[in-house]
Amino acid sequence: MIKNPYIAKRHWEFEEAALSKTNEMVKRYDDVIDLSIGAPDYPADRECIDYMYKEALAGYTTYTEFLGDEDLRSATIEQYKEDYGFEFNDEEIIITAGGTHALYLTMEALLDDGDEVIAIAPYYIYYKPQVELPHGKLIVYNTRPENNFDVEVEELEKYISSRTKAIIINSPCNPSGKVYSSEDIKSILMLAEKYDFLVIADDIYGALNYTDNKKPICAYESHPDRVITVYSYSKDYSMTGLRLGHVIARKELIETMRRVNEAVTFTINSMAQRLGICAIHNRKAIQKGIYDEYYKRAKYVCGRVADMNNIRCNQPEGTFYIFVDIRETGISSMDIWEKILDEAHILVLPGSGFGPAGEGFVRIACTVSVDILKEAFDRLEKMDIFK
Ligand code: PLP
Repeated sequence: MIKNPYIAKRHWEFEEAALSKTNEMVKRYDDVIDLSIGAPDYPADRECIDYMYKEALAGYTTYTEFLGDEDLRSATIEQYKEDYGFEFNDEEIIITAGGTHALYLTMEALLDDGDEVIAIAPYYIYYKPQVELPHGKLIVYNTRPENNFDVEVEELEKYISSRTKAIIINSPCNPSGKVYSSEDIKSILMLAEKYDFLVIADDIYGALNYTDNKKPICAYESHPDRVITVYSYSKDYSMTGLRLGHVIARKELIETMRRVNEAVTFTINSMAQRLGICAIHNRKAIQKGIYDEYYKRAKYVCGRVADMNNIRCNQPEGTFYIFVDIRETGISSMDIWEKILDEAHILVLPGSGFGPAGEGFVRIACTVSVDILKEAFDRLEKMDIFK
């Protein structure tokens, strides 16, 4: 019997409906091209793997400090100082098992029953269970495609209540590929100050930002104490299986996360943390390779979309996702998702899975090679609806 009512309810509607249908449909064909998953295929850095192996042989196979490996925390502090001029101390960071764990700890530390967190839709679907597990409430503010999914601050303000504890800003954004302007970030930080809530910066696509506006929210001079930074090595270093990330926040919040985490994972995988040190030292070279590859693929996909009828997209400002506008087809996201799978044997994700603001879109993940993307678009372009 499932005891936690939040899990028993199985409120992940999209997961429930779409995933079981996907499994059933994918089984029908043996040539499905999967463009649905946000797992980068870029090879993990060899030097980092060798370093981890050496460190394991040297004895780094035991529990680490509760806040995480001391050397990794120091390397991270140095990195933020060097890259963004942002300074914090080693009691203001906790190493986590990736971004998901970082978000989980953040919500556990922040929320009491009924507290509210605002998500800007279209948004990463796991925010909902992450907020609901500690019995919080996710408030969804829908941006509009006509407005390029920009935040309209006056509109956003209407979603703030006395129970608002935080807003999540994911920039670059999964699924829209959007990078929020510094004006929008400053306005949101001012709202946070005015109504006394925190800004959770989900920075996990930080290195996949194709604009000049690369400053993370923690480095904005206004109100840095209001920002909780959530980070992961999954996408920026193409190491989803490493399960490594961190949270940077005020000392008292980190202290709560440390206490929660002692009962959850006790400490984080020691070898992954050693690898993280090598990754930080080599970040410029590693991230350049990843950036160049996904930028190239995103450009390729947008070029192919531009040659087809009834669909359109903007070149993403970040991430490796292309959020494709299918409104001209007159078909819903779910229906076109099914049609694409049935007729072209291509698995994408329906935009409506990312909140109502994503209706009329599908998300394509460029996490396969250009050759496979080419094959996928050769098939898509043969569909009557796109001719
Ligand atoms: N946040 C966003 C916006 C994501 O897209 C993802 C993964 O796709 C995560 C957090 C969690 O990433 P991970 O747990 O792999 O670090």
